[in-house]
Amino acid sequence: MKNYLFNYYEGAFPADAELDYYDAGKEFTINSLRISLTGECNEDCLYCHNEGISKSSKHSLEIENIISTIYSLKEFGLKKVKLTGGEPFLYKKIKQLIYAIKQIGDIDIFITTNGTLINKRIDEISPSLVKKISISLDTLDEEKYRLLTGKNYYSKVIKGLETLREKNFNIEIDSVLLKSINTNKKDLLKIVDFCSSNNFNLQFIELSEAGDLNVYKKYYAEPVSVLKKIGLDFNIDKYNDRKIIRYKGINITLCRSIKDVCLSSNGRCSGLRMLPDGQLTDFNY
Ligand code: SF4
Repeated sequence: MKNYLFNYYEGAFPADAELDYYDAGKEFTINSLRISLTGECNEDCLYCHNEGISKSSKHSLEIENIISTIYSLKEFGLKKVKLTGGEPFLYKKIKQLIYAIKQIGDIDIFITTNGTLINKRIDEISPSLVKKISISLDTLDEEKYRLLTGKNYYSKVIKGLETLREKNFNIEIDSVLLKSINTNKKDLLKIVDFCSSNNFNLQFIELSEAGDLNVYKKYYAEPVSVLKKIGLDFNIDKYNDRKIIRYKGINITLCRSIKDVCLSSNGRCSGLRMLPDGQLTDFNY
């Protein structure tokens, strides 16, 4: 692992530094690990880049590999693990995995999901084990939802959210900003009010150009000007990171493209990704 990280950060140290891998290792900080449990997903979103993983990939991570990686990364300060996909609830052993991670100690678990399988698998997760669950929901219009995701699962997601709320999970809604779909004032206020009345935090996400370029060109909406329409002035500078403001009783975050996030950390992102084939990599895809 140290060897891997040394290569990963090669160039981050002065050329004449006399560092062996152990000393070099002490310089690294890896706070977070984003684990793509599977490349598979049960939806087919218009803008999906699936983080560079092929949806037809049959790879799926083994719990033992995940746990040994987490143990190794704890040496470098790992505090946070995010379970994602594809769709993480298509990973059959998610319950065993969550328990195994919690047994390591001092690791917060986050899940990012499309929310369609929550009610099916709710008995396998609990708010005492999962620090936050982020649900992708770009629109509160059922027909637009179907067009965006290619599936009729809107009501499953809404029911899943109700269940999570009843069970007191810490919930965040992830909403990608898409021109001519959800960026008019009415739709923006609708999702803000929905989140506010349910006490869900909300994250607006800038459309990434990592997916289909034609989709990007057609639907890209510049987030700062869009959000000013409803009085959210994030006032972002060139090297912005995520910005959080308090609005209508909830936290609203703006998450810009990964390139900006990397710039804000001087090119030394403190997170790693683990792909379904077990490979460790950075956030560029
Ligand atoms: S839910 Fe996520 S992984 Fe699945 S198709 Fe949509 S964007 Fe892609």
